Amino acid sequence: MATYQIVCTNKSDSGHGHITHAGTGDFTGYSQRWTVAEVRAAIRAGSVFYTVSPSRPTEVALVEPYDCSCGVKTIRTDPDEVTDNNLDNLQDCAY
Ligand SMILES: [Zn+2]
Repeated sequence: MATYQIVCTNKSDSGHGHITHAGTGDFTGYSQRWTVAEVRAAIRAGSVFYTVSPSRPTEVALVEPYDCSCGVKTIRTDPDEVTDNNLDNLQDCAY
């Protein structure tokens, strides 16, 4: 298990635009790109994923598995956390 900062995402073009992939790394960019299934499995195994607020670097939000009502299994940031480090606000992972 380990701790990872998610710095970018990719989303599906259809439906709710769920996150399909997440890139982990640091402010210089991502070093590893994961499918959401891989992220969910790693969280279940005890790893921690988080995002950092661009405007307040001390603000972090934990990432959690999320089963959408449409049936898609994806991930999201804890909705109680501050909003501008939300996964949906991260840049797209270039690949
Ligand atoms: Zn959905």
